[in-house]
Amino acid sequence: MFRFTSIKDYHAALVADHTTCTQAVKYYLDQIATQENLNAYLEVFAEEALDQAAILDAAAKQGKRLGKLHGVIIGIKDVLSYKGHKLSAASKILENYTAIYTATAIQKLIDEGAIIIGRHNCDEFAMGSSNENSAYGPVKNAFDISKVPGGSSGGSAVSVQANLSMISIGSDTGGSVRQPADFCGVVGLKPSYGRISRYGLIAYASSFDQIGIFSKTIDDAALVLEVMAGEDNFDSTVSTKAVPAYSKEIEGEEIGSKEIGKENNPKRIAYFKETLFHPGLDAEIKTKIESYLKDLTAKGYIVEAIDFSLLSYLVPTYYVLTTAEASSNLSRFDGIKFGHRTKESIADLNDLYKKTRTEGFGEEVQRRILLGSFVLSAGYFDAYFTKAQQVRQKLVDLTNTVFSKYDLIVSPTVPTTAFGLGENNHSATEMFLADIYTVYANLVGIPAISIPLFTHSNGMPFGLQVMSASFNEVGLLSFSKEQMNNKV
Ligand code: GLN
Repeated sequence: MFRFTSIKDYHAALVADHTTCTQAVKYYLDQIATQENLNAYLEVFAEEALDQAAILDAAAKQGKRLGKLHGVIIGIKDVLSYKGHKLSAASKILENYTAIYTATAIQKLIDEGAIIIGRHNCDEFAMGSSNENSAYGPVKNAFDISKVPGGSSGGSAVSVQANLSMISIGSDTGGSVRQPADFCGVVGLKPSYGRISRYGLIAYASSFDQIGIFSKTIDDAALVLEVMAGEDNFDSTVSTKAVPAYSKEIEGEEIGSKEIGKENNPKRIAYFKETLFHPGLDAEIKTKIESYLKDLTAKGYIVEAIDFSLLSYLVPTYYVLTTAEASSNLSRFDGIKFGHRTKESIADLNDLYKKTRTEGFGEEVQRRILLGSFVLSAGYFDAYFTKAQQVRQKLVDLTNTVFSKYDLIVSPTVPTTAFGLGENNHSATEMFLADIYTVYANLVGIPAISIPLFTHSNGMPFGLQVMSASFNEVGLLSFSKEQMNNKV
């Protein structure tokens, strides 16, 4: 039977003729069909994936140069444009919308031989932490189907968790890759802001959004990052910094093979004291992370606690700024240009907008548009929006100071393990607080990863979040790989 462990092993099996891309696609189609109850996919491109696999198999037979992602089967979150394919952001307002161009990041994957197998369910417009805000029903956590997978990229996390794709691509505005990765026991990477082009990613909060990666291994995440990253004329916020060969940079790092502090192997680790004393933090997560930090010290790392009095401002600042940006970004869905339009009788243009948007947007999206419009409105702008921008600047300054002394910051990824379906959705603010550890990286634009290192006594997995200075993905991945290696 086909078994996927890593892209490297899969490629070795292809070269040795032990498998083919077609066999791999068939295996995943089978998995997707038998685990349909998880609701991870909104659509599967079965025929197309098989056709693409046949083309790739034929090319390999003829000895053509193979791409870095030859035959790698990838699912994409339904907020990423893929020409000729439906794109709904899990919202009724984009029902029946077909993408008219392909996102740069997705095109780069295809150019290296990846097979896009389908689009993943998610929270509507990437707003949520449990995948319960999808217009197409919640996604279920494959470890325990009474539990949420996290959100908003819940379908993408479950896809890698339950072997429904080799790799999946999500988006992370405040934790939407790392939080579901934590809940599902997989690797979830959010690169630096501006590392990957956002062209073709449906905007939620443009100054926070970043495309991210779910994988089983750090090597796979590094390889996929290296393919997707880099300059793009269609996104003026993307960095022009050269893209390191991430997969090579962290190559061959077997257990303890690199001296700590040498060759991109970070040594100085900080953690924010307040994160471990947060009242919402599960006691067992706290103990396990604390003892992990002790072990790191024993191994020769310098691990130090630093004060972070701004912790309680993170979630409010994030929600003021992201809802403001969202209210502007989502104004384009008006029933005129594309997507759903009301069939009710209408009195005037305003009435058309109102009815269309009331019918098309779910409750959470409406809440955020209202909140965003409020914080931007005359009279409140300075009290909320300007204030939140000032806090954001303070956070950036603090971050620069921290990274002048340390290589990495670590924390839990989420305060709890995956909660039950329906358990948290009675209170928006309770749900928002689950984002306490993840929103920081988006507020200041640094890269962050959740690595699946722990299992709770309740049987659910949880991760360690690691953050580095902007564009130090090499250090981040290098350290993460070392931790994953030590776990085995
Ligand atoms: N849970 C956060 C929110 O609801 C993060 C969402 C995201 O990263 N897209 O805003």
